[in-house]
Formats: sequence, C-alpha cells, structure tokens
Amino acid sequence: MSNAIIYTRVSTKNQAEEGYSLAGQEKDCKVFAEVNGYKVSKVFVEKGESAKTQDRTELQNLMKFCIANKKNIDAIIIWKIDRLTRDIKDFYRLQEFFTKLNIRVLFARENNGDSATDRLTRNLMGVLAQYENDQKAERVTNGMKTAFLQGHWMWKAPIGYIMKDGNIEPDPKTAHYIKKIFKLFATGLYQQVQIIKIMADDGFKINTNMLCRMLKNPLYNGYMYKKEWSEEPIRGIFEPLISEAEFNKVQDILEGRKPVITAYKRNNPEFPLRQFITCPNCNQPLTGSKSKGRKEKYAYYHCHNKDCSLKFRIRKDRLEKIFVDYLNNIKPEQNLLNLFEATVKDVYNEKLSIRLNSQKQVQNKLIELKNRKSKLIDLRLDGIISEEDYKFKTEQLSEEIQENEFRLREIDEIDNNLCKCLKYACKMIENIDTLWINGDLDLKQRLQKLIFPKGLMYYSNDFRTAEISSLFIKKDTFKVSYNHMVLPRGFEPLPHP
Ligand SMILES: [Zn+2]
Repeated sequence: MSNAIIYTRVSTKNQAEEGYSLAGQEKDCKVFAEVNGYKVSKVFVEKGESAKTQDRTELQNLMKFCIANKKNIDAIIIWKIDRLTRDIKDFYRLQEFFTKLNIRVLFARENNGDSATDRLTRNLMGVLAQYENDQKAERVTNGMKTAFLQGHWMWKAPIGYIMKDGNIEPDPKTAHYIKKIFKLFATGLYQQVQIIKIMADDGFKINTNMLCRMLKNPLYNGYMYKKEWSEEPIRGIFEPLISEAEFNKVQDILEGRKPVITAYKRNNPEFPLRQFITCPNCNQPLTGSKSKGRKEKYAYYHCHNKDCSLKFRIRKDRLEKIFVDYLNNIKPEQNLLNLFEATVKDVYNEKLSIRLNSQKQVQNKLIELKNRKSKLIDLRLDGIISEEDYKFKTEQLSEEIQENEFRLREIDEIDNNLCKCLKYACKMIENIDTLWINGDLDLKQRLQKLIFPKGLMYYSNDFRTAEISSLFIKKDTFKVSYNHMVLPRGFEPLPHP
C-alpha cells in the first residue's frame, strides 16, 4: 500500500461557510485516498493564513516534512487546486518541488490523470484559480475606491477617531485632546514642546513626531487624500474634529507664515522678573538668588555685572510689590475702559464696511485668478501654449491664489474674533495686576513681555521703560485729556465732534 499525506486550507470565514470547511476537505481527501489505495499518514491543516505560499506555516512544515520523509511518501492529496495555490507561478513551482521528491500531487476533486489532456486541464485549473484571485483583488480595490470617493476612510483611524461601520467617527475618549491641541497651537502662543508638556499634565502622552503628524493630518479637518484615486482631496462623511479655519491657521503657523510668540524663558518660578528688570546703574538685566540670613533664606534680585559700580540688589518681595503697584498704576480706570470699548466699536463698525469691501475685492481677485488658471488649461489642451510655458504660468497663478486665500482667511478671522477679543481684553486689562500675581511663571513672563516689550529699568521705587504696550498708558497721560487717548495700532480715533 502507498503512503499519502493530506493538506487542507481555508483562508477566510466565508470559505468555511461555503462548504470548503477543513473537516469537509479532509473527509473528501480521505475518501479519495481509500478509493485510490493510499494510507494517510499525516494531515496538515492550514487555518486562515495568507494566500502566499511563503507565508503559510503549515505548507512550509509540509514541505520540510516531505524533504525529511521523501522515501515514505508517495503522494500528497489536496481537495482542489485552489487550496494549494491561486498563483500560477507558485503552482508550477510547487508541482516541480514535489515531482523532484518523487511525490505525486493528487487532487480529490480534479482530474489526476497523466495524459497530455489531463495535464492541460490541471494547468488550466491553475490559471483559472489565479484569474479568480486577481479578480477578487480587483473587486476589493474597486469597492474600496468607490467607498473612498463616497467619503469613507477605511484605513487605520488616527488618534481621536475610532473605526465604525466602515468609516471613522470621533473617539469619545481622545477626540477632546485633539481639539485642545489644535486650539492651543492655533493661538500661536505655544511651541510644540510646550504643548506636549501641557497635554502630558492633562494625561495625554504624545511625542514630537506624533504631534507634528497630528497637526498636519487633514483627516482632522474632514479631508481625505489618496493621489492614485483622486487628484482632489475628498470630503469625508465623518465628523471633522477641527474647523477649517482653525486647521488652516495651524498650517499657516507650521509653514512659518505666522510666527509663534515665545515667552522669554527663564526657568526659575521664584524669580519671574529675572532677566526682565534691569539695574538702575548699568542697565544690565537683574538676576535672582537666595542668600542666607541669620534664620531664614532671603530672596534677592541683584545685578551681576562684574563692571557695575553699584552692585545693586533689592529684596524679591519689595521689587515685586513695586512692580505690581506699577501695573496697577498703568491700568486705565473703568470709565476709560468703557470709553475705549465704545470707541473701538465705533471705529470697528466704520472699518467693517471697508473690510467687507476689501473682502469682496479679494474674492473677485480669486475668481479671476481661478478663471485664468482654467483658461490656461484649455490653451494647453488645445496645444496653443507649450508645456513649459504652461507649467511656469500655472505655478505663478497657484502662488497668487494661495496668497489671496490667505488674505481672505485673515480678513475672516478679524471679523469673527474682534468683538470677543475686545471684551476679553478689557477684562484682562482691568485685572492685570491680579492676573500677574496669580499666574504661573510662564504667564507672568508672557504678560511682562506683552506690556513691556523692551523690559523695565528699576529707578528709585519706580520703573523706566523704552516701550509700553499701547493698551496700557501711564495714568497721568490720560489725566490731561481724554481727547489724547491713544488707541492700539490699527484703530484711529474718531474725529472729535
Ligand atoms: Zn548694575
């Protein structure tokens, strides 16, 4: 009696349901063995592995087994050709492999004869199996493409989303973190490292790479890109986490069209005024340190310029008290703030019409540019202009379009935010001293830099400065007359009645 081994395989759940089940295959193969006079010595069972021969562990084991036991194996029995492989090259390679070992490959449900016709039939079956395989792959690809064009994202969901029903949807556990990250970055007040730290404190760990990829990922803004399927981005039918305006703003900052405002970073939270207030004698920035008193440590700000003749030093508490008083002093009074708000609103309304006008202009310009671009395409298609001229000109137009789109976004933003900002700014100015006292080091330094961009020089219980933010004016300036009130840059005062 001859010896045979059996190889069975299912690749997907469906096949198990369609009567290709492993048990069914094995039963058929065993019946075939008995009828043809073979004794089955071993069964190799492959479950749900890849269609590729080299990735199938059981097939690999079977081949090793055949090499080791070639003298004791006469045949390998497989249910149908497509169970062995759907790849025609693989089919020939495997046939050759077993033939060299003098092992016959028999199929329980195919013709196993040795005539030329039988061989042709087997080869044709192999070709057919490959054809089916290709067709299946094509169907999957086409199906995915259709779904993609309809707005489905079917690949790995980015952080902040989860997969659901063949698309993605916001992940209730992480979506709010993504929103916060974009919000923080869009303010232009934070660098990426600062955002990573803030998020870590919030319990959301990310690294620089992840953050960078996140900020650039158009999926958050609801757009999907896949060049081979669509030249244009596709609008997803899932909920975007980030608004278009915010996403674009973040891109502007990333691409350096808008600067990130950085704080003057010194990392000792005990000395917020260090490197900011300068020595009354030499005008070099003061540093801070503690010196040992008899009972306790005293904190001082002091000049550490070797060449300074004064070696100025002042108790931390005292200098900070004088600073807070100074803040309080430059803070405009409430009625003045009200006047400020009213005036800005007046000017704002007046400017609004001008702004709407310029918005219209930019929009028209954009339409014109886009028309020119499409005309250019026609000219190229008709062969009237050369490829080179076309490329040069389209690049130029694209740049102009981008520039105008950016301008348009800027105009929109000002409109949306001005009223809100105004209220907020007034509140902030009103409470500037409390805000400074209670803020952490970072906020303190930001405020200092905002109000006194060039720093402050201490001068006998008071300060001198080369520049003060136009939002804050020393009170005595105001006391002269409200008519001389200075408005922030960009807002001219209304003519006096
Ligand atoms: Zn000095």
